[in-house]
Formats: sequence, structure tokens, C-alpha cells
Amino acid sequence: MGMDIISWHGCRLQREMNPEEFCHWQKMRALCESVQKTAAIPLAKLNMKVPDLAGDMVQISYTDLTAQVAAVAARAKDCEVCFPSDGGSPSYVYVGYPIDGIAETALFEVFTQQLAEPDSPASQLLADAGSDDSTGSQAIWAGGRGAGGLLELNPPRVKSIGGRAITSTQVLDVLFRNAEGLELVTAYGLFWLALRKHVLNDTEVSSSDSARRIASLGELFARTFAKGAQGSPVCSVYFYA
Ligand SMILES: [Zn+2]
Repeated sequence: MGMDIISWHGCRLQREMNPEEFCHWQKMRALCESVQKTAAIPLAKLNMKVPDLAGDMVQISYTDLTAQVAAVAARAKDCEVCFPSDGGSPSYVYVGYPIDGIAETALFEVFTQQLAEPDSPASQLLADAGSDDSTGSQAIWAGGRGAGGLLELNPPRVKSIGGRAITSTQVLDVLFRNAEGLELVTAYGLFWLALRKHVLNDTEVSSSDSARRIASLGELFARTFAKGAQGSPVCSVYFYA
């Protein structure tokens, strides 16, 4: 269980699908790659239970699923970031639950350090998000902390900034939400690149699988930004919890 995040940048493949369908095929590709590495029985004999496009669980052989993924990948040939032939995809990030305390603390520290600067990405994102609770992920994080919850850290981190208490739940809510349009993708991209640098420069933080996955959002946002800056009228990042 986790969160799927996709780059939505209007390449030919994405013009033929909606974001949910694109996300589905990225998940299936990631699943096939993971199964390929870990399967205990020959892949040709492997049957799997996976969600279909409607979300219903269906039985499918590994062979059929990889053929379906390959057919979608072939349609993405003109896009270097959607289904690269060497595996993986800079257009898709999966962050599994629970998100550990190291990753949440890193997010909180980088975000609150930036809040000391009025023009920083974090200040802009917090101000932007403040007026719109409906698009954030607050309701998801309310689902639980500690043992069995989505977040390991319990209680959340709290810091007083300019007389206002900021919690790490609020920070997650601001960060894990859809970013639509070049301006917002740029502001989020600057934050995620700063976070990525923080994670890569700190050996303790980069030992956390959650932190490394979250840090890879820096690359996803940078690629999405690049497409928007090249003139794509579509330039967004979508989160599916
Ligand atoms: Zn693409």
C-alpha cells in the first residue's frame, strides 16, 4: 500500500489516456519489474492477482501482463521519460506506507528551514495551499500514526515559526497534493530538488528507503518542468493515495 505519483506532460501517449489509466500502466510496469527480480518460480508459470483499470482484482499470467505493458510502452516511443527501454520511469514514483520517521523529519526540516525566507518555495507553497484544504492529503494522514499507521512518527513534529505552530502533518498535506500548471510545478520542483540534495548529502537520511523514494520526486518534477518549459500546454504532477 502506498502513494503513486505521476508526471503529466502531454506527450502522445498521455494524449490518448487519462491520468488514472497512465498511472495504472506505470504501476503494472513497476510490478512486472519487481516480480522479475524476486519471483520464486519460473516467470512463464507465474499467475498474478492485479487490479484492472476499473480497480477490480483479476487473475492474469505474468506473460500476458508483460505483453500488455510492452504494448503500452510501444505507444510511448516518442517520449523519453514515460517508458524508457532500460526500465524504471522518471514519470512515476511510488512511495510505500508507512513513511518512516527519518523521511518525515527530513521533509519537515527542509520545509521549515525554507519558511524562514519569505520568498522561498516552501513559503509560497504554504501560502498557496492555505486557502484550499480540499486538494490536500490531510484526510489521508489523519488515518493514523505509529504502529499499523501510514506514518511511523508519533506524535508529529511541531515547530513555532513567526508565532505560528507548524506540524509535520501540515507539511505532508502541503507537499503531497496535485500540482497543476507550470508555475506551481516550478515552485514544488524547487522544493523537491532542495529535499533531494538534503537526502543525498546525508548518509543517515539516505539510508531510509522512504527518504530515497521521496527524494526521487526531485527528478520527476524537474522532468515535468522541462516539458512545460519546452512549451507543453499540459504540465502537472498528480498524486494517487
Ligand atoms: Zn511522456
